[in-house]
Amino acid sequence: MRAHAERLDGLGTTIFAEMSALAVATGSVNLGQGFPDQDGPDSLLEGAIAAIRSGANQYPPGRGIPALRQAIVDHQQRFYGLAYDPGTQVLVTTGATEAIAAALLAYVEPGDEVIALEPYYDSYAAGIAFAGGRRVPVTLRAPSYRLDLDELRAAVTPRTKVLLINSPHNPTGTVLTDEELRGICAVALEHDLVVITDEVYEHLVYDGTHRPLASYDGMADRTVSISSAGKTFAVTGWKIGWVTGSPEVVTAVNTAKQFLTYVSGAPFQPAVADALALGNDYYDGLRAGLRSRRDLLADGLGEFGFEVHRPAATYFITTDIRPLGYTDGIDFCRQLPERAGVVAIPHQVFYDNTEAGKPLVRWAFCKRPEVLQEALIRLQKL
Ligand SMILES: *Cc1c(COP(=O)(O)O)cnc(C)c1O
Repeated sequence: MRAHAERLDGLGTTIFAEMSALAVATGSVNLGQGFPDQDGPDSLLEGAIAAIRSGANQYPPGRGIPALRQAIVDHQQRFYGLAYDPGTQVLVTTGATEAIAAALLAYVEPGDEVIALEPYYDSYAAGIAFAGGRRVPVTLRAPSYRLDLDELRAAVTPRTKVLLINSPHNPTGTVLTDEELRGICAVALEHDLVVITDEVYEHLVYDGTHRPLASYDGMADRTVSISSAGKTFAVTGWKIGWVTGSPEVVTAVNTAKQFLTYVSGAPFQPAVADALALGNDYYDGLRAGLRSRRDLLADGLGEFGFEVHRPAATYFITTDIRPLGYTDGIDFCRQLPERAGVVAIPHQVFYDNTEAGKPLVRWAFCKRPEVLQEALIRLQKL
């Protein structure tokens, strides 16, 4: 048989598959993949069960059920003061992952350049490749991971079509500042670029605040805003995401989405609609619980001598491993399960400019405190 298409070159199997297999083989505590080990609120889980029992099991409307589209609109208004029309400006997708892929397919012509912040979330490279685009990195450099706006401006060429932004940012945990967001908007406006913004960690900000790119002047019509229920409600396996934007943007993304999956998770949609309307106590409690886990793991890793980059947001802490005498995060992470019974993820795999990520390792803290404690006990062996 002939070899597979070139667009798969370099995609291989994900680091998460390799590391999760190692975790199982060695009985390690898995702080690799970013999924919570406790499920979301009971009312949400019961909502999906009730929806299945009451017959929400066939194709829902392509853009999402009306109740969920309305709940997304209400959420954008409540948290950010952004107004959308539920009929034309919202699209429910199969997770943020599908939204990102569909947005790239909708806007990237073969040969177009997509500027993305590296380290990248791993599906970005694949999504850009599937669309025939070329990715152009702008590096967020440790330890502060600030965006260098001069570097961003220098990355723009006549072939640049899309800025793919992620804030709060995985894996660094950084939240773009107001100045950085303004800089991104200025570049987008000056060069007439589409901005695809992945904001799945919008509610997991511990220091500072999240401000959506779409809320900046002039951005409403050129921004594809993406979020998801997975992280906000601790149901990463449900894959209910959404896009908000102008009617033209939503129609374009839906044109691609309808032939990727057609529709998304019928019984999960009413459950997520109810969850989005939960009171501030839910959102505050989510943040407070994760903040204390962040601090538990960050303090512990710091005591071992790692240089800890305490994140302002997300599920992840990054450490520089050089103070412990290591230089290569990939080697370190491959040995860690055997040596200490813990799995973590090397940053390097999320960069084109691999040198910038070489000594950096990512640890997920979205786990029960006793699991984090156990990981710290095991790491004493290092
Ligand atoms: C988890 C994650 C996603 C994927 O979200 P789904 O809704 O599970 O598809 C997208 N972007 C980032 C940055 C993530 O961390």
